Amino acid sequence: MGQYFADIVAAVGSAMQGMAITFKHIYKKPVTLQYPDERQVMPERFRGFVHNDMTKCDACNICAKLCPVDCIYIEAEGKAKERVMTRYAIDYNKCIWCSLCTENCHTGSITMSHDYDHSVYDRRSLVYEFMDPRVAKIPCHRATRIEQGWWVEPKEDKPGAGDKGDDA
Ligand code: SF4
Ligand code: SF4
Repeated sequence: MGQYFADIVAAVGSAMQGMAITFKHIYKKPVTLQYPDERQVMPERFRGFVHNDMTKCDACNICAKLCPVDCIYIEAEGKAKERVMTRYAIDYNKCIWCSLCTENCHTGSITMSHDYDHSVYDRRSLVYEFMDPRVAKIPCHRATRIEQGWWVEPKEDKPGAGDKGDDA
């Protein structure tokens, strides 16, 4: 009989505890976002999908060589001043968001974006092509880039960056 009343007291206590938590939060602002209509604002240093600004990239290959999972694909043709990039792609299936590529890019073209949403039905869609050589082949040589009006990194802002794309 004693255990019976002890169980009742424990059950009522437990219910009261639950209700106390409920009442504590009942007038608080909801934290649920109505995704996808509402999006989370990510912290400044959040590592989302890697993005490359192709106007700044000169196919120096540093990012591809440093990538620990080999998910950056760069293709180029021609030599010296004639060298042009024909493919820059990232396989998001393999990327581990380590940021090695972004931290070592000498032009600052590749960055960790705040984009976290790339739902797809086919994994092949996660191999993201950043350029279409049928639209434009991107010159790699510094002099050619300057001549054709492509972005060239300000050397004074990147000490030691040098002309890494010249003979790569
Ligand atoms: S974040 Fe890391 S894994 Fe992803 S592309 Fe850059 S170097 Fe490769
Ligand atoms: S390190 Fe930067 S400039 Fe060099 S290929 Fe990668 S993204 Fe382009």
